[in-house]
Amino acid sequence: MENSGSIPKQRIMVQAKAWILLKHFDGFPKDSDFELRVEQLPEPKDGEILLEAVYLSVDPYMRPFSRVRMKEGDVMIGAQVAKVVQSRNPLFPEGSHVISRSGWRTHTVSDGTGVILLLSDWPADVPYSLALGAIGMPGLTALYGLEEVCQLKAGETLLVNAAAGAVGTVVGQIAKLKGCRVIGSAGSDAKVAYLKELGFDQAFNYKTVPSLEQALREAAPEGYDCYFENVGGAFSSVAIPLMKPMGRIAVCGAISTYNDTTPQTGPFPHLTMIMNQIRMEGFLVGRWEHKNQESLRRLLAWKQEGKLKCPEHVTSGFENMPAAFMGMLSGENLGKAVVKA
Ligand code: NDP
Repeated sequence: MENSGSIPKQRIMVQAKAWILLKHFDGFPKDSDFELRVEQLPEPKDGEILLEAVYLSVDPYMRPFSRVRMKEGDVMIGAQVAKVVQSRNPLFPEGSHVISRSGWRTHTVSDGTGVILLLSDWPADVPYSLALGAIGMPGLTALYGLEEVCQLKAGETLLVNAAAGAVGTVVGQIAKLKGCRVIGSAGSDAKVAYLKELGFDQAFNYKTVPSLEQALREAAPEGYDCYFENVGGAFSSVAIPLMKPMGRIAVCGAISTYNDTTPQTGPFPHLTMIMNQIRMEGFLVGRWEHKNQESLRRLLAWKQEGKLKCPEHVTSGFENMPAAFMGMLSGENLGKAVVKA
């Protein structure tokens, strides 16, 4: 007897590519620490979705988190913008775009846990990649570090290092929007020139200035009210004594220490912190997750009004994930480093 019912949907056989942490990093990551694997994905079950990576993020946190959140043989951790290509979950319609913490994978079958739909009114003229950058986690980090931790006020002087990166570019621009004086440091003359284009009042190349202390003193002879710390290590030893009394330091990152094999030591900042009553607070962007929707809309509005530039450093090809990651750690990127799958 002929089957007159609907033809069952063709099973989509999907092969996922994934980058594995083959060996824990020892010092600066190297090619042989990673391995590309191919796996056959199962058909999504009821409640599940099949995701296809569109843009993948490479971030500094992957380096320190690899030690504490991963074991050898795990897929590299990370967020991606993905397209829902098959859905058996009504919350995630086919064709919609999401942010997913799927790690370094081209395709993922997910039950939706930790998967977030992009803002429903994401404008057609804004690239999805920005959801990993200025209109995503790094942008939120900049906003919360300034507003919640530094409690930055108009007229104050702010220092930010790694200023030409994903977080730093947003930090400087928001601080300017708030009527502050902004000083930034970065690792190349091209980055310094770009920071000036963004409206930074002063910027310098920390790799070529004869004296970091002199550069910081000249940029703000009266000292710094706020310091958005992305770098740590020796930079902070020089910067902390240059804070004004009652200064605030948002400890966002310490990238200059992430690849250390032996921990860096002092000078220790305690005495200068006591004498100047400095507040120094570490933070993780996730603390204010409950504000994310509203905050993303603020960032997006600034972008749409032309007040927030969102530079990106885009590497093409999933096979280049390790190169993009290592390139970002060594300062190749101006703006957010992302990989186009
Ligand atoms: P970036 O886009 O800024 O990329 C990293 C940059 O760090 C490089 O481009 C390089 O720029 C700089 N860098 C690398 N090594 C050194 C070094 N030894 N000394 C000084 N600068 C160095 O990354 P993100 O904007 O994504 O992250 C910036 C910081 O914020 C990181 O420390 C990261 O861990 C932290 N972070 C923290 C979060 C939180 O929740 N607390 C969330 C997101 C990020 P250059 O050419 O200037 O050297």
